[in-house]
Amino acid sequence: MTVLDVIFYPNDVLRANSEPVTVFGYALKKLISDMFETMDAYDGIGLAAPQISVTKQVLVVGHKSQRFALVNPEITSFSGVSHMEEGCLSLPGVLVDIERAESIVVRAKDSDGVDFEMVYSGLVATIVQHEIDHLKGVLITDLGTTRLQIDE
Ligand SMILES: [Zn+2]
Repeated sequence: MTVLDVIFYPNDVLRANSEPVTVFGYALKKLISDMFETMDAYDGIGLAAPQISVTKQVLVVGHKSQRFALVNPEITSFSGVSHMEEGCLSLPGVLVDIERAESIVVRAKDSDGVDFEMVYSGLVATIVQHEIDHLKGVLITDLGTTRLQIDE
């Protein structure tokens, strides 16, 4: 396993539209395991592949007991409203107040290419929406009122 370098804004890769994964095999499993290790090394709770310079539709989430990867994720339903102050590993020191859906239904593939559907709510729903935005080149500074975090 390898800790990868997280790239920082501004960087064109963070603005790219990531491509769907079409090959499910060792390379994808290694990418996902490296992404988990990188997320942990940076003390993150989520990481999207473009943040480590890979423009593929892959993201990982790690919050308490919820640790999972989504490949080619698509949100099929949104409900409720949640407000949260979000940070991003690619935008150190920046916090943005963002309104998102409180609960979402996501259709995705697992690392073996098997389709599944899951409901996420609360903080995990926020993380998933944040990371899916990365796959479309959208950053938190596009979505809400930015303020700089003074002490970190
Ligand atoms: Zn982010």
